[in-house]
Amino acid sequence: RAKALGKGQYHIFDPVMHAAALERLQLETDLRRGLEQQELVVHYQPIVALNTGKIAGFEALVRWRHPQRGLIPPGLFIPIAEETGLITPIGYWVLLEACNQLRTWQKQGLIDPSLFISVNLSVRQFAQPNLLEQIDYVLAQSQLHPDCLKLEITESAIMDNEKDVAVILKELRKRHILISIDDFGTGYSSLSYLHSFPVDTLKVDKSFVQRLNLESENVGLIPVIISLAKTMNMSVVAEGIELPEQLGILRELNCGFGQGYFFAKPLPGEELIKFLSLTPQW
Ligand code: C2E
Ligand code: MG
Ligand code: MG
Ligand code: MG
Repeated sequence: RAKALGKGQYHIFDPVMHAAALERLQLETDLRRGLEQQELVVHYQPIVALNTGKIAGFEALVRWRHPQRGLIPPGLFIPIAEETGLITPIGYWVLLEACNQLRTWQKQGLIDPSLFISVNLSVRQFAQPNLLEQIDYVLAQSQLHPDCLKLEITESAIMDNEKDVAVILKELRKRHILISIDDFGTGYSSLSYLHSFPVDTLKVDKSFVQRLNLESENVGLIPVIISLAKTMNMSVVAEGIELPEQLGILRELNCGFGQGYFFAKPLPGEELIKFLSLTPQW
């Protein structure tokens, strides 16, 4: 079917694309409503210090409790949120929620006060003129100490908007907020930004960790990233550790921190606290 656009112009109607576009539009409308109706939830995944086997902090990861579709993972709605700009209020809500949660656990004496919370920031949030004001407000409101807060930004987000990001990261450093580069090694970036940006942590993308296995003895770029971090006084988190062999190899390589299903999946707050009460240590 083709729809006339007048003057002999025709717009080819593709039913498959049309269905996808409708689905997307529906999801966007739903997401806007879901945010207002408080359908978003934050789950928390432990980050473990590999030398001691103790939990050092948590990553906050958003999910959507959709009334009909059930729990939707961020991979299915964050891209839509990024495109539509909804990521700005969503990201702000996640930050507020995660900081309040950590502070509440601290006050209740449920966690060691040195544990940090790591929150993902989208490149769209860095383009907002009031990001720093929002962060200041969240810290004041939650009364969370800034050095308990880590913000994760991907390498590709830095490359997209290097100037704004540089200014903001410097301001964050002044406040003693910590910075992680997420999905490190996947961004095809020049590494020069690492010199001029105040970065505390490199998160080795899980694709590197998943390639670790005993047979191949091929550790890929992981040792390079670890020594780069050491030289630059940064710590390293290996993401996506699922197998004890991967943990063993990473420990041998003196990787500082790890995160993955081997330790724990991202958990709702209450479940995480139950899990912690079993005093897990690896
Ligand atoms: P990310 O920031 O790189 O987060 C790590 C992802 O790896 C999470 O997926 C986590 O559940 C998953 N993961 C952790 N350990 C393992 C493992 O052992 N095996 C496997 N296969 N996966 C593991 P999740 O929660 O689905 O989040 C996906 C991405 O969505 C995140 O990747 C991040 O880019 C984005 N995201 C999540 N929450 C937020 C948010 O609040 N704001 C923004 N801007 N992005 C978010
Ligand atoms: Mg992350
Ligand atoms: Mg990551
Ligand atoms: Mg990732």
